[in-house]
Amino acid sequence: MLGSPVEFMESYEYRLLAQMIVSAKKQMPESVPLHLFGAGHPLTIPFAVALGCDSFDSASYMLYAKQLRYITEDGTRYLSDIEIFPCSCEICRKYSPEQLRQLEETLKINELAIHNLYAIKLEVDKVKQAIHEGRLWEYVIKKARAHPKLFEMIDVMTENSEFLGLGTPKFKERAIFLYDKNDQFRPEIQSFHDIVRKFKSKKKKLLITKEFNTKPGYLSQQYLSLKKKIKDFDSFQVCQYSPHLGLIPIEISDIFPAAHHESSRIDYNPEEFTEFEKTWTEFFKKNNFSEIKFDKKDEFLKYFVKTLSKNIKKKSLV
Ligand SMILES: [Zn+2]
Repeated sequence: MLGSPVEFMESYEYRLLAQMIVSAKKQMPESVPLHLFGAGHPLTIPFAVALGCDSFDSASYMLYAKQLRYITEDGTRYLSDIEIFPCSCEICRKYSPEQLRQLEETLKINELAIHNLYAIKLEVDKVKQAIHEGRLWEYVIKKARAHPKLFEMIDVMTENSEFLGLGTPKFKERAIFLYDKNDQFRPEIQSFHDIVRKFKSKKKKLLITKEFNTKPGYLSQQYLSLKKKIKDFDSFQVCQYSPHLGLIPIEISDIFPAAHHESSRIDYNPEEFTEFEKTWTEFFKKNNFSEIKFDKKDEFLKYFVKTLSKNIKKKSLV
């Protein structure tokens, strides 16, 4: 059991709250559920769940109501500052903010407390649905935008991604969404890196391309046309790559999440993809390539090709 994170919340020390949860979780056997007291706020509930809390309770809905504070999905407002209620619970349908302000003190607090409880319940339901869809990571990252200090919790998550992986199923039906460098630390992505870091090829030549739109890669038009164009195609180990997933040997381009992700088509900065770099180094250590074929106009790839030994011949793809 973890207690009194309320002070952390009030001072926006979300990073400390996250670190506190992680260190408690690390010291506990996996089978023991972690109960978090306090911190029952829509802002922190998704993070607490992602970091491994199993249950919470909180008097926050009443504490906030007593201070005439109205809980929203992205923070707390003073009732005096609200022009229109951004909520359609029974309380917010019954009164306008002005009408609620005019109520007798005890009734006002009780009515406000009911709304606050609704707001917390709604967040718990959203988190449950995100878990059901296998999108808790995405949901948490989106949520982190609510406050710069909340955004710092992402660091604690990425630094402890190994440990987060425990509760995340590896196989899912839906595609995962990849946006920025933080997503390289998603537990599903980490598991894929672990597989590729052990991958051994018998071939001496390597061909690397960007991943194709059609997944898995070996079913795509681009793959089939490469196969036609390159004479000694069968002597190449073919790999696709994605900044997030790293190298994707074509033989395993159908496993999760290699064939089950969508990424933004923006120019990623290779320096920020440290997991890619680790996999790249490991992959060339485990295998003995004497030649690599790649698109020399591909800036992301060029950054990593530069790190290769001089003994490996670098050839243009076309
Ligand atoms: Zn409401």
